[in-house]
Amino acid sequence: MSEPVFPLAGKSVWVAGHRGMVGSALVRRLQSEKCSVLTASRDDADLVRQEDVENWMNANRPQVVFLAAAKVGGIHANNTYPAQFLYENLMIEANIIHAAFKAGVEKLVFLGSTCIYPKLAPQPIPEEALLTGSLEPTNEWYAIAKIAGIKLCQAYRRQHGSDFIAAQPTNLYGPGDNYDLATSHVLPALLRKAHEAKVSGAKTLSVWGSGTPLREFLHVDDLADAVVFLAKHYSGDRHINVGSGEEVSIRELAEAVCQVVGFEGELEFDASKPDGTPRKLADVSRLTQLGWQSARSLEEGLESTYRELGSDNGLPDFQQR
Ligand code: GDP
Repeated sequence: MSEPVFPLAGKSVWVAGHRGMVGSALVRRLQSEKCSVLTASRDDADLVRQEDVENWMNANRPQVVFLAAAKVGGIHANNTYPAQFLYENLMIEANIIHAAFKAGVEKLVFLGSTCIYPKLAPQPIPEEALLTGSLEPTNEWYAIAKIAGIKLCQAYRRQHGSDFIAAQPTNLYGPGDNYDLATSHVLPALLRKAHEAKVSGAKTLSVWGSGTPLREFLHVDDLADAVVFLAKHYSGDRHINVGSGEEVSIRELAEAVCQVVGFEGELEFDASKPDGTPRKLADVSRLTQLGWQSARSLEEGLESTYRELGSDNGLPDFQQR
């Protein structure tokens, strides 16, 4: 591994959004970086309010910012609260990025999402696919805000020379995930359903759709490792995809989940539920060329995620497993 172009040791580092799944993984990962980690509670600063953010930044003077704060949610939430998704995400990014520039922050890493890419982007999706076609309509509010965040980083770099970079993670899972079956993504949903099926002695497990769609999954601790790697080793105006580079079908995912949980019944595919996009895989060759690759297999990630689930995870009968 090459020497970091931007060592974090000795720096004061703000993780904005430290209570979220990504932010809390970053706080865990930064424990081994010999830097001091700053966090702001909602009482300290409402990130949607510019004055709050500027006051907090002036009082705390971080040298590095990881911008993991965002209003997030699944397809249903995105569709139902479009104004909130667009407004809150735009405000959070604009406030933090501008305040970071004004305070002379040395490095900022903005976290986006691969939903910034056009609905019909080529697969695997290269970074260049950005703004080449129409977005998936159900999450365009969130995607437009995240695209604006990437553009803010590029604009402050171009106009002011700020070392602000942007990373776009693929589908994430791990500690702090959402296990509410109505709003969760497929991986936590299947973990919960398989667990509950095992506990209740059910014979079948319901999987939405046909099982044929292909998806890529990255453990959030691997994302945090990649993001810290990028902070230390990358400086440039091109945003960088972060993924595992491996895809599985939903059927294969369901089988792997059943294996880990120890559910031995049959899978039952529910054709009344949508498949969604047939394939969603990030092209991670740029990240790989920079020198980072995910080390954890999906099976290992599922094992540790299932093992670490605690009583606050939304699995009501967790104690029985
Ligand atoms: P997407 O990646 O944006 O499509 O979001 P999801 O993670 O919600 O869904 C991915 C795929 O998993 C879709 O084809 C779903 O139909 C399928 N799937 C299978 N079972 C479930 C489930 O119990 N919950 C969810 N959310 N998706 C499921």
